[in-house]
Amino acid sequence: MALTSCSKCGAEIPSHDWMCPRCGEPALERGAAADREVSAKGMIAVLLLCVAFPVLLFLIHIFVPGM
Ligand SMILES: [Zn+2]
Repeated sequence: MALTSCSKCGAEIPSHDWMCPRCGEPALERGAAADREVSAKGMIAVLLLCVAFPVLLFLIHIFVPGM
């Protein structure tokens, strides 16, 4: 079983564990933080779509006669 050490307190973290057993610092694999950043960007994109779509419908409703 491979052990990684905590970046915060230096305690050994079992590879199957996702956080430091001593201080609770998340034991992120390389790239996990980047993945989280990507998913945050995806969330922002979804939020923008949720805002943009009703606005688009509203504009269509205003500018297209007979709707
Ligand atoms: Zn720790």
